[in-house]
Amino acid sequence: MRELPAFRLLLGQLQKIPYLASKNLYRVATYILTSNESEVDKLCTVIKDAKQKVGMCKDCFNWVEGTDLCAICSGKSREKEKICVVEKWYDLTAIERSGDYRGLYHVLGGAICPLEGVSPDSLYIEPLIKRVERGGVEELIFATNSTPEGEATASYIASRLSANGPKVTRLASGLPMGATLEHMDRVTIYRALSERRPF
Ligand SMILES: [Zn+2]
Repeated sequence: MRELPAFRLLLGQLQKIPYLASKNLYRVATYILTSNESEVDKLCTVIKDAKQKVGMCKDCFNWVEGTDLCAICSGKSREKEKICVVEKWYDLTAIERSGDYRGLYHVLGGAICPLEGVSPDSLYIEPLIKRVERGGVEELIFATNSTPEGEATASYIASRLSANGPKVTRLASGLPMGATLEHMDRVTIYRALSERRPF
């Protein structure tokens, strides 16, 4: 590939995207190289634009644009005494799609996984503890995934809460082990939320 320095650089850059499996790497590179120039320009522009304009909600770490607080945190009809703790932003959207939950969220940014170098410090756990300590939270609902990492993360957070802290619940059991919210249908999420149990 020495004769293709620009192509090699493109692959090298794409390789840095953690979720792009190696066989998809070549597909994405091919897509870019066979797209017309205006499509590629558009792609570059929207990536730069999003990077500049999209930030994080200062309370829950949901994505925001042009504001400090996301639409959920600033929503007048939301039940501010409930916080649903999720790993990723797409878990939040999965719960929102189920249509029944009216509380707030806290996006951790992932789950504790020492093997992959994800420690509690690399997640938004401290801001959650501070949020709870500020008061006004009556229930913390753990909606981390039913994976060993998701369970360990919920246990870790629970261990950090003071004894007179809020009620702590977990999405209903009955969710298959290893199930991630992202891949669950609305009815399953609705049921898991409405049948949540004490943690
Ligand atoms: Zn928010």
